[in-house]
Amino acid sequence: MNDKSEKSRIYYTKPSITEREIRYATDAAANGWGEHCYEYIERFERQFRQHLGVRHAIATSSGTGALHMGMAGLGIGPGDEVILGDINWIASAAPIAHLGAKPVLVDVLPDTWCLDPAAVEAAITPRTKAILAVHLYGNLCDMDALAAIAQRYELHLIEDAAEAIGSIWHDRRAGSMGIFGAFSFHGTKTITTGEGGIFVTSDDALYERVLTLSNHGRARSESRQFWPDTIGFKYKMSNLQAAVGCAQMERIEELVAGKRRIFECYLDALRDLPLRMNPEAAGTVNGYWMPTIVVDADKAFDRATLLAAFKADNIDGRVFFWPLSSLPFFQDLPRNIVSQSLAGRAMNLPSYHDMATADIERVCRVVRSVLRQQ
Ligand SMILES: *Cc1c(COP(=O)(O)O)cnc(C)c1O
Repeated sequence: MNDKSEKSRIYYTKPSITEREIRYATDAAANGWGEHCYEYIERFERQFRQHLGVRHAIATSSGTGALHMGMAGLGIGPGDEVILGDINWIASAAPIAHLGAKPVLVDVLPDTWCLDPAAVEAAITPRTKAILAVHLYGNLCDMDALAAIAQRYELHLIEDAAEAIGSIWHDRRAGSMGIFGAFSFHGTKTITTGEGGIFVTSDDALYERVLTLSNHGRARSESRQFWPDTIGFKYKMSNLQAAVGCAQMERIEELVAGKRRIFECYLDALRDLPLRMNPEAAGTVNGYWMPTIVVDADKAFDRATLLAAFKADNIDGRVFFWPLSSLPFFQDLPRNIVSQSLAGRAMNLPSYHDMATADIERVCRVVRSVLRQQ
């Protein structure tokens, strides 16, 4: 079977949709209107709160929207600075810029690829308002170190846990430790609603502010109809999307276990190669949203060759996030040497939940053959 045309495509990700998701979505489409139009949304928010162990949740139309509203609720605005890791998807930085604040990009750690607490502390200025801890590819930020810094300098510690459903930091779930957390249910994420997200917090006052913002600035105590107190947002999740989300939440253990099985398969098969994969420190659990390889710095490696080999084998190749500082609208930051060095050596491997072991082996054969040749 060396003929490419005979090889099935291996997608880098796709959702796990069962009869349950279809049944709930069908029910929402048929019956979820009028007096029932919030039922799946409320149920989804309740399931998510319980899963995470937080007091409040507001389902949103995207993870980006959840971050945007949460930061607005904290009063982040023009003149403020928010510190985040240089290796990140743009969605984490965009809401900071939309609020008129400045994303301050610091270097990341070589093992977790998440922001380096020492670099965070060095970047604090009188304008710093918050630290945005993004748990990259399921890997956890050092939450103890970041919480200590946040406390010492009186900063907000925010979690972008869009990639970290299933990740646990010493008995606390990713997304439940900061002043607020944001998740995404985009079609590539571990659980999906097509597009969607959620804002979570255990801070009652912040919840009230974000709830008002999420309702176009209308406070729930307001008795006048159509009376906003402030300019708010419209980032709501629909009942139809929430129906899919309810089914996914009922299957959350199975969906995270699927991701973990795939990661462990890769780790086992690639163990002897000169590369590192997502870490799982003692006392933590990694939800392994995306199994990622980082080829050792001293090994000659051309990522384009690996991408071409994947393509020839009908496998989706997905590159690691670029340092945000390398994008044209941000300032170049040569001092972020770890971020710059990681970028060219790293790739995500395909990992949809029910991926067959034979397909994982097929991916590993390509990785192995390319690394052996170089
Ligand atoms: C996916 C993702 C987002 C954005 O989520 P959307 O639902 O696409 O808006 C934000 N942050 C991180 C880390 C993500 O992976």
